[in-house]
Amino acid sequence: MPAGSPPNFKIEILPPDISPYRKGNTGLEYVTTFDSGLPGPNVMVNALTHGNELCGAHALDFFFRRDLRPTRGKLTLSMANVAAFDRFDPADPFASRYVDEDFNRVWELKVLESTRDSLELSRARELAPLVLAADFLLDIHSMHLDSPPLLMCGMQDKSVAMGRVMAYPRTLVRDRGHDGGKRMRDFQDFDDPSSPKAAMLVECGQHWERNSVAVAIETTLRFLDFCGVADPAFMEAHLKVSRPLQQKLIDVSDPITIKTNNFRFLENYQGLEVIRKGNTLIGYDGKEEIRTPFDNCVLVMPGRNLAPGLSAVRLGRYMD
Ligand SMILES: [Zn+2]
Repeated sequence: MPAGSPPNFKIEILPPDISPYRKGNTGLEYVTTFDSGLPGPNVMVNALTHGNELCGAHALDFFFRRDLRPTRGKLTLSMANVAAFDRFDPADPFASRYVDEDFNRVWELKVLESTRDSLELSRARELAPLVLAADFLLDIHSMHLDSPPLLMCGMQDKSVAMGRVMAYPRTLVRDRGHDGGKRMRDFQDFDDPSSPKAAMLVECGQHWERNSVAVAIETTLRFLDFCGVADPAFMEAHLKVSRPLQQKLIDVSDPITIKTNNFRFLENYQGLEVIRKGNTLIGYDGKEEIRTPFDNCVLVMPGRNLAPGLSAVRLGRYMD
């Protein structure tokens, strides 16, 4: 197993039964919109962008079962890559991240409007009008790493401000994403500083640990509260973590994008390690040395699949 892979990954949760949500009410499978009938924002919470990231599906199942409704505006609950999710096999749990390509690297108009096709692109084309119409988006993910949860806010100040109000999870990450393609959270207006629309991506912890579900639920409640559509009684009943939480912002520089078939880390990094001295060797890409560019460098989400074109790791610094 290459360095960077968890030697013993836990599988504490299995896929929930999402068949009750297949029909939905929008004409798209696994997409349901609740309309309060009152003026207010158009809010979207999405799960299963990656088919093997189960916590978001569990969180939406939790909300469906408890009849979560927006107090104003509209709330859409969607599950994106169900085709990949349907292939989940606990004996080979990493295999169902996607079917043809990463659903979270196709979110650019020039890609969506191209003639290129894949299972993920056709699903993204179905969901794109809803994503474009949303004022606020939360996209729920998890990680292969045993790392604390991360709220990924993209590059814009408006999203950093949103993360500060949500104040959960503890670690807020400002980053521009991957060289391999654009994420849904960075689509169009969400990444435009002149638009009030904003999106968040949450990494709820290790893919199959039970706690990732609790993190997904808590983050969604904080998000709905930020959007002003949360029912106070529902919040009171289900919020677990009292505020305020001391939050820390990590500013991430460019990702280290893998160039060769032989990338390796020197250690089995799990994420959020702080490398005190700048110019410390952390790995090799073929013969090229990978060194930290500055003092107190934070390793953000070191990759598991160390293949050319993918992000090996992102490097950041704590801003507070
Ligand atoms: Zn993911």
